[in-house]
Amino acid sequence: MTPNAVQVEKNKNCLAGMACPSCGSYGAFELATEGLDPRLTNSAGVIEGPTTERDVIQYMAVWSDDGSFDTYGDTIFVDEGNAVCCHCRHEGKVKDFYTERDNSSSGVS
Ligand SMILES: [Zn+2]
Repeated sequence: MTPNAVQVEKNKNCLAGMACPSCGSYGAFELATEGLDPRLTNSAGVIEGPTTERDVIQYMAVWSDDGSFDTYGDTIFVDEGNAVCCHCRHEGKVKDFYTERDNSSSGVS
């Protein structure tokens, strides 16, 4: 499956709980991601030598529920960062795409 294929099943892996707030698509999305700078990788796709905090950056990566080809190593999504739906080009914050976040345990409506 290609990253830009329109997904019809609910996300249960990398994008668990996420859907486009505009069109309801389950991906792919461009998401603000924080992790080691993927541009530091060599031709073999690995980062050589020790890395420091300076090598951790925020960047936009295309994500499907299966993962991303644009990232390296451990990454996190940046809740306050930008998110773009690859299907309808809706733009928002990453946190806005968590449309299925479980609120049942909060006790606050
Ligand atoms: Zn959309």
